[in-house]
Amino acid sequence: MPSAIGRVSTRMVCPNCHLEMMTHIVSKATYRTHMIALFMCLTFLWPCAICLYCTDFSRNVDHYCSFCNAFIGTYE
Ligand SMILES: [Zn+2]
Repeated sequence: MPSAIGRVSTRMVCPNCHLEMMTHIVSKATYRTHMIALFMCLTFLWPCAICLYCTDFSRNVDHYCSFCNAFIGTYE
């Protein structure tokens, strides 16, 4: 996994088609997100749990090539 990728779209050379591009990103809630949300609900911090789902915090971000759609890596 390239260490350069982060939470936002990143300019890099695709390892598959070798074109320089801005990565296409897909963020998704993870098992960890659900566990933290559940914990917050149990400790009366449920407003924070809602915030958790409204932001990209504690989500994985998958990076894909914007040309060939090859999977680049995941930012956790
Ligand atoms: Zn590509």
